[in-house]
Amino acid sequence: MIACFCGQPHALGRRALLASAVAAAATAARAQSAPASAGPADPVLIEELVAGNRILYDQNVVDGFGHISVRHNKDPNRYLLSRSMAPALVTADDILEYDLDSNPVNANGRTSYLERFIHGEIYKVRPDVKAIVHSHSPGILPFADTGVKLRPMNHIASFLGDGAPVFEIRATAGPETDMLIRNAALGKALTVTLGNHPVALMRGHGSVAAAQSIRHVVFRAIYTEVNAKVQAEALKLGKPEYLNPKEAAAATKANDGLVDRPWELWKRRAMAKP
Ligand SMILES: [Zn+2]
Repeated sequence: MIACFCGQPHALGRRALLASAVAAAATAARAQSAPASAGPADPVLIEELVAGNRILYDQNVVDGFGHISVRHNKDPNRYLLSRSMAPALVTADDILEYDLDSNPVNANGRTSYLERFIHGEIYKVRPDVKAIVHSHSPGILPFADTGVKLRPMNHIASFLGDGAPVFEIRATAGPETDMLIRNAALGKALTVTLGNHPVALMRGHGSVAAAQSIRHVVFRAIYTEVNAKVQAEALKLGKPEYLNPKEAAAATKANDGLVDRPWELWKRRAMAKP
């Protein structure tokens, strides 16, 4: 309600009305730009995401950097990812909801990972993907930086198929970036390199793994790192004999039904630590 005591109620009233209208329009614009929440996620999914964060740290895939996300169980156009913090310290209260443009729905002043666009852009183009890990694990870097293809050394890493593609950020953004996927355009370029693969390496940076669940993507992130170390050792001895594509496909089918076994082991160990 507008009050005026200056003797010129109409003039001031019009100014106040205008100010009020401008404020209302700004509020409406903010409300329009803030993505709507899909509602509370399944607490079991949140618990898995927290465990995934802890496991990836315990298994030396992430350190102070790196992240894991999951698609929201109520809306495929939303995903869940921790606020910007070290994965080993993540709790359920740190999990934020994002739309696929990687705008936070419920940040409430909490900061987001700079590279969250990796997640949003992959979820946009890969409906089969329900969970994603981005890491800088050291074992894969020789393969990200040398042109030697990362290929499956045994049945456990069979998901690597005919080898992991390598993302070259210079091809999209030129030679002067800070190497980070800090916007949607770079995230989209990364999805092109990833294609339908489960894993892509990122030259001068790290890797990304994608899968149908948190348990599957944690499995893949861990064994990508393990495979890289084994392959580097094998290359010192000679020319490795990798799984062929048919062996890789058959072994992946078998492994996809077995991810619960290592998950329970990794989880018990990681969650027992303070
Ligand atoms: Zn990164």
